[in-house]
Amino acid sequence: MPFSLTWLPQVLKDKGLKVVLTDGWEERGRGAMDTIKGVICHHTATPRKSENMPTLNMLIKGRSDLPGPLSQLGLGRDGTFFVIAAGRCNHAGKGSWQGITTGNSSFIGIEAENTGLKNDSPWPEVQMDAYRRGVAAILEHIGQPADFCAGHKEYALPKGRKDDPSFDMNEFRKGVAALMQGTAPASAPAATATPAPKPAPKPAAEKPARPAKPTPKKVAVKSAAAGRSKR
Ligand SMILES: [Zn+2]
Repeated sequence: MPFSLTWLPQVLKDKGLKVVLTDGWEERGRGAMDTIKGVICHHTATPRKSENMPTLNMLIKGRSDLPGPLSQLGLGRDGTFFVIAAGRCNHAGKGSWQGITTGNSSFIGIEAENTGLKNDSPWPEVQMDAYRRGVAAILEHIGQPADFCAGHKEYALPKGRKDDPSFDMNEFRKGVAALMQGTAPASAPAATATPAPKPAPKPAAEKPARPAKPTPKKVAVKSAAAGRSKR
């Protein structure tokens, strides 16, 4: 019988993400998931190779010290999501995030292909972009805010037990939140071009008092649109 996460591929495809299903994914898992509360982000920490997702087979089968599947999703260097399992996976270990300590049964795990070392930094933008969009799509589907996306290094206990993923999680969550709130561009991140610099304003004495901008989110959208229409 299939496990509960059979919605995963469609939720990702609906956001225009590249998705590849692995054979038997619907019935793969170490048991049933509980209610999904969020996502834990990982990197594979495996050696760098030329292939897109050389760690996929290990994520499916596991390692000598840890039986698979090791995550529900794999994320290739080119931004493709590989759907590995619809059930519970061995990715979280001991830890806590937002008061939730049942990592494997409450969080979907994403293992992104990256060594976690200097030789693999910065990450390919196409992979980071897909990472943010995939997490945003999942959180939107389960009705949870961006705060319910944790890095493994943030979840894992005792502190310092894990160091993945190698990127800044606060920045990552900001990007995820922007996507969820519709303040990020729908596709190419390059569309967030900054408007041309304006001439410096006259000294404050001549400036009429202006109220503080009330809703930064909407203002940002409006000013971006205005900037475009002027050109
Ligand atoms: Zn990890």
